[in-house]
Amino acid sequence: MTDRYASFVQSGAGRALVKRLGLPDPPRLRRHTPGDPLLPGPVLLGAATGGRLAGPVTAILTAAGVELRTGGTTPPATGHDDPAAADGHAAPTAAGAPTGDGTPTRFGALVYDATGITDSTGLRQLYDFFHPQARSVLPSGRVIVLGTPPAECGSPREATAQRALEGLTRSIGKEFGRGVTAQLVYVTPDGDAGTTTSLEATLRFLLSGRSAYVSGQVVRVGTGPATVPADWDRPLAGQVVLVTGAARGIGAAVARVLARDGAQVVALDVPAAGDALAAVANEIGGTAVQLDLTGADAPTRLADHLADRHGRVDVVVHNAGITRDRTLGRMDADRWDAVLDVNLSSQERINDVLLERGLIPGGGRLVAVSSIAGIAGNRGQTNYATSKAGVIGLVDALAPALAGRGISVNAVAPGFIETRLTARIPLVIREAGRRMNSLAQGGLPVDVAETIGWLAWPASAAVSGNVVRVCGQSLLGA
Ligand code: NAD
Repeated sequence: MTDRYASFVQSGAGRALVKRLGLPDPPRLRRHTPGDPLLPGPVLLGAATGGRLAGPVTAILTAAGVELRTGGTTPPATGHDDPAAADGHAAPTAAGAPTGDGTPTRFGALVYDATGITDSTGLRQLYDFFHPQARSVLPSGRVIVLGTPPAECGSPREATAQRALEGLTRSIGKEFGRGVTAQLVYVTPDGDAGTTTSLEATLRFLLSGRSAYVSGQVVRVGTGPATVPADWDRPLAGQVVLVTGAARGIGAAVARVLARDGAQVVALDVPAAGDALAAVANEIGGTAVQLDLTGADAPTRLADHLADRHGRVDVVVHNAGITRDRTLGRMDADRWDAVLDVNLSSQERINDVLLERGLIPGGGRLVAVSSIAGIAGNRGQTNYATSKAGVIGLVDALAPALAGRGISVNAVAPGFIETRLTARIPLVIREAGRRMNSLAQGGLPVDVAETIGWLAWPASAAVSGNVVRVCGQSLLGA
């Protein structure tokens, strides 16, 4: 499905007309191609007084080959020492100052360590850092703020200030335009080696073109058995990954992206989609499993297959899903049952059997596909929204329950993605769905796939219990 309006706007004649009439202006988004540099320009790294992450972040970005400028430290608001400045990472510099030829520096990303902000008066440091840089971010650039999870703060005042960071990042996502995205990453203060590895994985994802359609999100990095890949361009090397609903749409894109990143993919779909499934599996050098997930013996047959062929499954991607739309008064029970069974109950049955049989090892990952309908609700989709909200409930419940086994559980919640599903929506509603987000366009299946890919990396094992929207910061459910 092509977005003809976006193509027109991105042409020369279209640009002029859109500017004159004040119409929505969807930018061309930067998407990932293997071998790409992480960013189109340098990173400006700032830190609030007393921040604890400027050091690790400097090491991570330097290792990733990013050109780094530092700056933005403001005088202490609360009068305590500045360890970040003391180790040289946050010393005030002429960040954003003109380059040798007099042109102002433009940044691929602004990254700010706000973990040092311990009360609301310290929030002024955000203004001092971001205000002079508001026009310095390159198209499709990134803004990332790092904070401490409010629940893990040392005092109510610190928790209040850290919670306030969400308002800043979500507003920047709406304000900066030109494909610039903004995210808040909360990093546990009681971290282990896995925390640093997953922070690295998260920064590499969020800064790169992989996160093109993710904006206004809050990601939590905790602890867990995350491992650094031998090659960040193949972060899934050696991993066995199951992708359900892989014959087409988002699932096929997930299978392709995960295989590109080095995974051995087991692609599953219903027998009726056997030809399309085989084509995807052949294309990526994976294997195909024809199975209806709702069958009574599906969990056992799937577990037997994975045990016989691979002895384990490192990552399970629960992507298969259906819609059977009707307003509630007109909905027959079959529509309700079918949607709940495919989208939610079958996932639970499969998880149970795979976990009982020990086929998901420590460090394993479950990634489910929810929807913004599960967050916002949707007219005509009581069944679908119930199932997708249930997926979020499953993440909330299973993530802490499986933490002891080192298994992470996360979900993505796509917004308007250009697929056969959204192509069927009537034109006017479809146009509204496409434009009602900060990026003024629909996402592509690959955008959802890249986000699932990041959550599936062994390096992301300390990211658990998150629901990450891939919606261009849609107004729905915001
Ligand atoms: P799609 O209909 O193109 O693909 C879904 C796949 O799941 C199909 O290949 C189908 O055969 C398979 N499937 C359905 N029932 C199955 C069963 N019982 N057993 C095995 N396989 C089964 O849909 P899509 O747009 O690619 O959506 C993929 C996921 O993303 C779904 O969970 C959907 O709810 C979710 N999602 C999509 C959008 C969007 O805009 N397209 C938005 C939010 C969420």
